[in-house]
Amino acid sequence: MTTRTYLSSGVLEQLDRAQEELDRHLLVTPGGSCRACGHEEPCQGRLAAMQTFARYGQLPRRTPGSAGRTLLGRA
Ligand SMILES: [Zn+2]
Repeated sequence: MTTRTYLSSGVLEQLDRAQEELDRHLLVTPGGSCRACGHEEPCQGRLAAMQTFARYGQLPRRTPGSAGRTLLGRA
């Protein structure tokens, strides 16, 4: 269950943006580079998004079918 009612709308906006960033930066080439920014994973974009979630004690949504490995590690 996800309870976000105690988060302000500004925070929710940040989390939404972080989720979009994360989704983009989760796609990895066969060579292990981020498809969005081309950096070796885990790239800065992904880490920054994860930090945003961590800051508010939230977890990103799972993205079923996204390619490659994921650092989220929650089965
Ligand atoms: Zn990236």
